[in-house]
Amino acid sequence: MSQRASRRSRVLRSAVATGAAATLAAGFLATAASAQVTQARPAAVTVQAVPDIPVANVKAHLAQLQSIATANGGNRAHGRTGYKASIDYVKAKLDGAGFTTTLQTFTTSGATGYNLIADWPGGDASHVVMVGAHLDSVSAGPGINDNGSGSAGILETALAVSRAGLQPTKHLRFGWWGAEELGMIGSKYYVNNLPTAERAKIDAYMNFDMIGSPNPGYFVYDDDPKLEGVLKTYFSGVGVPTEIETNGDGRSDHAPFKNVGIKVGGLYSGGDEIKTAAQATKWGGSAGQDFDACYHASCDTSANINDTALDRGADSIAYAVWTLGTEAPPLPGTVFENTADVQIPDNGAAVTSSVTVSGVTGNAPAALQVGMDIKHTWRGDLVVDLVAPDGSTYRLKSSSSNDSADDVVATYTVNASSEVANGVWKLKVQDIAAQDTGYINSWKLTF
Ligand SMILES: [Zn+2]
Repeated sequence: MSQRASRRSRVLRSAVATGAAATLAAGFLATAASAQVTQARPAAVTVQAVPDIPVANVKAHLAQLQSIATANGGNRAHGRTGYKASIDYVKAKLDGAGFTTTLQTFTTSGATGYNLIADWPGGDASHVVMVGAHLDSVSAGPGINDNGSGSAGILETALAVSRAGLQPTKHLRFGWWGAEELGMIGSKYYVNNLPTAERAKIDAYMNFDMIGSPNPGYFVYDDDPKLEGVLKTYFSGVGVPTEIETNGDGRSDHAPFKNVGIKVGGLYSGGDEIKTAAQATKWGGSAGQDFDACYHASCDTSANINDTALDRGADSIAYAVWTLGTEAPPLPGTVFENTADVQIPDNGAAVTSSVTVSGVTGNAPAALQVGMDIKHTWRGDLVVDLVAPDGSTYRLKSSSSNDSADDVVATYTVNASSEVANGVWKLKVQDIAAQDTGYINSWKLTF
């Protein structure tokens, strides 16, 4: 008890201006409750029939990638002929299926790398659903599970989109990344070279890096609750339990997208981690052994694949593409959100988190909703401002020496009608007293 109470005597670094420009409904609890209902959600839509992805077709792509590696020094690594041949193979398939393909080149480690981007015609161009996988292997082996499996899974799903003549409500885009094994170089290059306005159009990026592990698990990324839910719904629908993917945080091509505030999700079937007895009971396979003992090794060949995992993985990709690609675009009350964590220095300088707003006509509304989820162990320390694209600042929350409660989970209404809507908006947070810390977990603007 004492810990917290004694803190009342703390010296605030500077008495902070009161009189927030924003109005706040009575009491945080009320606001917290309203935070849940302020977001306009699109009406439920029926998912168009999701086709089964024939695992034989996926395996045929893997056999091709294996032959390519065998013919090119045993690998498909960045800067090697095996990688370029892999890109050419995938591109030819997509060109023949009606996709608009773009080959993006970049240079790293003294060699040219390639990203392949494939757009399926149609869908709302200001709402893009993107699915990606890296196509390069390590130089030690052919990389059939890592990551021929993900590359083949999204390729066969793209071909299924073409076979079905799918007319999505959102725009579908697929990406095959180069030089992931060198540190997500290709996907970083793509995101860094994407104009801000184009980034804002990407509603979701789904990553598939290793989906055919020989001693498989089913790990779903937990970076975004909605995207996590889509894959979980698929797997529970086929009676396969899943676990949260934690080991790959920041370790694959979803990271560059997440770092700029794009919602990400994905699937992983396990690598050099050991399967536990509980996992073996739930998923089959061998306890006490790696999910993929050939991870990053010369034995990661077409023999290093579990067909059931590959089949389920490919079908989950199709489920995600059909579910996200055919949902109704958001209704008015569009939400712009940033879920990237931003640490708040204790008793230190102010930090900001940005949200890029685009596609909104005219000025911001007189009742702009500013929702936030800030984790902190003494919220009285915090001063929170909204900064409009032109730099105008709106005080949302002042500090208070006797507000010892945790976290700021609230929605503020701001009269921002004098501000142009489109542009970069910032949430500015400053901790003005010592001893308690926290971070911005997420925040959003609802227009
Ligand atoms: Zn990989």
